[in-house]
Amino acid sequence: MNENLQIRTFKKIGHIEVICGSMFSGKTEELIRRIRRAEIARQRVKVFKPKIDNRYKEFEITSHNANSYPSEIIVNADEIYEKSVDAEVIGIDEAQFFENNLVDVCQNLADSGKRVIVAGLDQDYRAKPFEPMPQLLAIAEYITKIQAVCVICGAPANRTHRISESGDRVLVGAENHYEARCRIHHTFKEE
Ligand code: ADP
Ligand code: MG
Repeated sequence: MNENLQIRTFKKIGHIEVICGSMFSGKTEELIRRIRRAEIARQRVKVFKPKIDNRYKEFEITSHNANSYPSEIIVNADEIYEKSVDAEVIGIDEAQFFENNLVDVCQNLADSGKRVIVAGLDQDYRAKPFEPMPQLLAIAEYITKIQAVCVICGAPANRTHRISESGDRVLVGAENHYEARCRIHHTFKEE
């Protein structure tokens, strides 16, 4: 066959990266770091966060040490498809606040050749796996699990301790309601 007639299809291979850990462990910081590096590499990036996360600014993801990056608020993970058509790298923060369809959305975006970076809490304040993070961790190509510092003893902390009395799983807000704590100093009230 004439070489000029040969049809070669080069498909970019996408993947999923998950950044997880307790509150204050540096997930948002790490997500912003990776997104900024992608920008330096002149890749088109797009960052999303769920509507429920109304901490700090409406149009940025913000870390507890005031680092920030522009983001778009969405209600359903499905919205990412149409809003990221041109993006090569997609960042998603606070993934634990999305419904389980986020898993399929991430899978489809990676299948279509995109780099998907997802950050979220792997455990709720009772130290139970926080869906859909377990499913995302299972299908991801790369996983980064980071720890905060226990506010009681200074040890590495992988749990989020709720200071307030509320028994709701989702109680949005940072410093006022939660602390990073190690396995020994983490407690919660049984319902
Ligand atoms: P996450 O997104 O995981 O909640 P952030 O990236 O928003 O974390 O914030 C991480 C920053 O929070 C750290 O760099 C540090 O400045 C600050 N911080 C406050 N309390 C703690 C703590 N107990 N352990 C570690 N970092 C803390
Ligand atoms: Mg965060």
